[in-house]
Amino acid sequence: MIQTIKILPESLANKIAAGEVVQRPASAVKELVENAIDAHARSLSIFIKDGGRSLIHVIDDGDGMSKEDASIAFHRHATSKIAAYEDLECIRTLGFRGEALASIAAVSQVEMRTRMNQSDVGTKIRIEGGTVSEISDEACAVGTSIQVRNLFYNTPGRRNFLKSVSTEYRHIYDVVQRAAISHPELNLKFISNDETILDLRSDSLHERIAQIFGTKLAESLIYFEEKNDQFGLSGFLGKPEYSKKGKTEQYLFLNKRYIVSRNLSYAVYQAYEHLLEKGCFPLFVLFITLDPRKVDVNVHPSKMEVKFEDEASIYRAVLSAIRKALSSSDLMPTLKIGDDDFSNARLQFQNRSIPSKPDARDWSQLFRGEKPPIEVAPKLKPEDDFSVDSTLKSGQENQLEVQLSAKRQAALWQIHNKYIILPVNNDLLIIDQHAAHERILYERARIRFTQEGKKSQQLLFPQTIQMSSSDAAIVKQILPDLEKLGFTIKIFGQSTIIVDGVPPEIKPGKEGTIVQEIIDLFKEDEQQIRVEPSERLAKSFSCKAAVKAGDPLTDAEMESLIDQLFKTEIPYVCPHGRPVSIKLSLSELDRRFGRTS
Ligand code: ADP
Ligand code: MG
Repeated sequence: MIQTIKILPESLANKIAAGEVVQRPASAVKELVENAIDAHARSLSIFIKDGGRSLIHVIDDGDGMSKEDASIAFHRHATSKIAAYEDLECIRTLGFRGEALASIAAVSQVEMRTRMNQSDVGTKIRIEGGTVSEISDEACAVGTSIQVRNLFYNTPGRRNFLKSVSTEYRHIYDVVQRAAISHPELNLKFISNDETILDLRSDSLHERIAQIFGTKLAESLIYFEEKNDQFGLSGFLGKPEYSKKGKTEQYLFLNKRYIVSRNLSYAVYQAYEHLLEKGCFPLFVLFITLDPRKVDVNVHPSKMEVKFEDEASIYRAVLSAIRKALSSSDLMPTLKIGDDDFSNARLQFQNRSIPSKPDARDWSQLFRGEKPPIEVAPKLKPEDDFSVDSTLKSGQENQLEVQLSAKRQAALWQIHNKYIILPVNNDLLIIDQHAAHERILYERARIRFTQEGKKSQQLLFPQTIQMSSSDAAIVKQILPDLEKLGFTIKIFGQSTIIVDGVPPEIKPGKEGTIVQEIIDLFKEDEQQIRVEPSERLAKSFSCKAAVKAGDPLTDAEMESLIDQLFKTEIPYVCPHGRPVSIKLSLSELDRRFGRTS
């Protein structure tokens, strides 16, 4: 008989499985914390030493275990959370695979004390390398205390693989922080090398967020909540100003489980779109609640990856909820003049997130401090003529504009042919004319891409333009979108194009150069492969067609510009993420001039 195949002893199998479940000290902490939460703990303390290498000790006041359960809990596939396959389709607990305790015990020295509320006496159990060395009655508190010493002491490969103490500590901190955010109702203590790192009382989510991120940052976060019959979305969004290089501060929770999902994170960035500068990522905390039957959490032993039954609709909902929250928030930076030095003037985002985006309807009200005279212009429509130049030059001001200019007495000033100054309520708005016009044109371009029929101004003298053959190839590639914008272009041979018509916004005299300018800018963004070509075109078109710094504007042009700006979705930032306007408050001025009342 030749038999080379053997069934591995359980202790060895556990050691192998441990490789997937317990990759580093932080994974052990995560599993122990999840167990405590599943056991209905209200208070949780986590002690670690040396980044969790020499000690991880988690104490909870949850359900505890009977002696029988305690002695079996460290076996592989021992779980109280599921019993049949059907249960797997409807997981409401954080754990369910019955592997964590077995895996942890296989690669460390564990001591557990546990007692149920109804038992007078608890149980103590000691396990070393997966083998039980002691099990006895023990007087102990209700709940469970698990000490894990010398993780990976018997798996040198894994032990040598560990990073520095501070790196391992950092990973553990992240795990604890995620649990703190997803379970604000928990009292939570985290102590590392005898130093108290976190000591959080059970609190509301808002308070917990403030404790974790600091009051100042927390106050600037934008809260949002959306529900439909399928799922709920809620959370906090960082203002673009606080975004950081690198994707660190992102928290995505599904039914209170921290998950990683590239797609859903991407939905969030998409919603921020051009609010962020290149390479910057916003802080966000996003909670998704969903019927557990609609999602599979059994994708990987670490349970951080999930498979949604209908990811596309969650993606769309996340995108639209966050867009909505951002567009209705005050993202306008406030100019604060430094306390002791005038030259310290600096930009600061306001530390509150009241939705104060002026509505198209009551802009005149803002301006004049009285009710708008009549039903004024509705929200931007693609057929509106937004062009600063052409509306005014053609003398076809719409009714709103006529009314506004007739009623308005407060003045607008253009300074250095670059900025427009405008008093609004108790603030002074300083608007960058180019960025403002860019924003208007950008949103208009995006609307046009989705519309049938185009707005083009036929040229009396078609322009023949020579370009490099690679540029002409780009024109050819994006021709449908160029046409939607309002260009009428014919392509001849390898490097000649003829422009017959341009969008109405293009200034007279620029018809011959604008296409080349747009293509040049379009190419600059080429390496951003995730950005749609139409998005890149909208940006380069708006930048090149907008009024420039240095262009003098008439009063009527300024009025039209500002009026249109406040009809846009996001009037605060230009498509590249720079601010469009900043606010200087009257109280700040009063303070500077020493007026106390
Ligand atoms: P799982 O959590 O996937 O069920 P674990 O190996 O993590 O598997 O835990 C095995 C079982 O031990 C759990 O199902 C639970 O019944 C019990 N258990 C583990 N930790 C605790 C705890 N802190 N309090 C009460 N019971 C616990
Ligand atoms: Mg578990």
